[in-house]
Amino acid sequence: MTRSRLVAGNWKMHGSRASIAALLDALVQGNPGTACAVCVPFPYLAQVAERLRGTPIAWGAQNASEHAQGAYTGEVSAAMLAEFGCRYVIVGHSERRQLYGESDRQVAAKFAAVRSAGMTPILCVGETLAEREAGKTQDVVARQLGAVQFEAAVLAYEPVWAIGSGRNATPEQAQEVHAFLRRRVGAETPILYGGSVKPQNAAAIFAMPDVDGGLIGGASLVAKDFLDIVKAAN
Ligand code: PEP
Repeated sequence: MTRSRLVAGNWKMHGSRASIAALLDALVQGNPGTACAVCVPFPYLAQVAERLRGTPIAWGAQNASEHAQGAYTGEVSAAMLAEFGCRYVIVGHSERRQLYGESDRQVAAKFAAVRSAGMTPILCVGETLAEREAGKTQDVVARQLGAVQFEAAVLAYEPVWAIGSGRNATPEQAQEVHAFLRRRVGAETPILYGGSVKPQNAAAIFAMPDVDGGLIGGASLVAKDFLDIVKAAN
């Protein structure tokens, strides 16, 4: 069975024209072999598309509106992102769920909007520390996944307690949840792990049978670290 591997960077709300130009140059020069992508802040999409067109590195966004168009001040539609050549859009990141109150229903609508615009959603699911400690990890990720008409997409397991905390899930903890998700999404769907992946822990996590790569926050802003993580997915 050949399931594609992917390492995707989530730059979050970081960067400037100058820092992004330098980061992109370094990534392109690093010539990453495995499939990789960067999900960037909206204003830099044109710059990123221009620099990465014709390279093996794909690009995408971190969010999209669930609406096609209209009076939604401050929102960006999936069709707009598609015009900039985005291949991926992160949907349901825990920061969006927690800080902006995105519901499962809204996440499902965003997922559908991204698919209809011809792009691949990267759907994030994951439990909080309290939910893990209460033994609810499987219930939570099953609920988040079950809310979506999941098809032709990438799934990312991102335990909330591991994001930006420096405390990654152990390879065994990741594998346990990935195996659970695998039974729901089938053998062909790439399932990425996200949460404090660094060059030092990437190889061990990616070696797990149901881990097909990573969604990388902080370390994706440092070219050498991101390239080393991409290499670890080979
Ligand atoms: C993320 O925000 O998707 C993420 C995984 O962040 P970090 O790698 O910084 O934990």
